[in-house]
Amino acid sequence: MPDNLTDLITELALANRILGHEGVLDAFGHVSVRHPSDPGRYLLPRSRSPLLIEPDDILEYTLDSEPVKPPKVALYAERVIHGCIYQARSDVMAVCHHHAAAVLPFCVAEKPIVPVFHLGGTIGEEIPFWDQHDEFGDTNLLVVKQEEGRSLARTLGQHSVVLMKRHGATVVGGGLKELVSRSIFLCQNAEYQMRAHMLGAVAPLHRGEIKLAGTVNLMPIVVARTWEYWSRRLEAAGAWPPRGGAKRARGVQGKPARATPRARGKGKRR
Ligand SMILES: [Zn+2]
Repeated sequence: MPDNLTDLITELALANRILGHEGVLDAFGHVSVRHPSDPGRYLLPRSRSPLLIEPDDILEYTLDSEPVKPPKVALYAERVIHGCIYQARSDVMAVCHHHAAAVLPFCVAEKPIVPVFHLGGTIGEEIPFWDQHDEFGDTNLLVVKQEEGRSLARTLGQHSVVLMKRHGATVVGGGLKELVSRSIFLCQNAEYQMRAHMLGAVAPLHRGEIKLAGTVNLMPIVVARTWEYWSRRLEAAGAWPPRGGAKRARGVQGKPARATPRARGKGKRR
């Protein structure tokens, strides 16, 4: 991950847009990253749909999920998910919370997602379930209180993903590129598992295979390749660079990016 704050902010905006474009995030969901020089803070956009995030939307928070500067914009209600996980897990550098269509059937039926193909090894051997109702009774299902965030982080434990009953999933990573890969592979795995189930009994990867495949598919050279691929798809769709951040944002090759005519036409605020 870049240790330069400006570059990391651009990378976080790109991560939000990639996951929006690849169908993990929709109007809702969010991605954060731990501050590069202060582990007691994290970066998260203002309340806005991920596919529209620009570098200027990104704010700094303490691990209590309080904005460092008084906000002039609306904030994500569920930001305690991020702060509580960063508090509980010093190894976590990036967090994504989403309600992806691919995982929701498993969250509703409370059926486990298990790694069923090699890239699915990145989700780990076991994904715990968290049911907000168990501890907090009737709520609107949004994770907004510190105690709710801490409860979710406890259930996540040392795992890479936690499924949230009737709600969605939260994924963690050692960096933004790893997080983006794991979040997309989780959704692909869920889709393949569901389709394979229609054909017959589904056998997950063996324990050793999960470890080996999970490790190799998160190597820096591999996540750099997937990051470039998903970034180029975003550019080809005219959704990168961001309209308002073209001066600061860089293209996927690290060169200053210029907004294409198509990109300039899109990205109008809705
Ligand atoms: Zn949510």
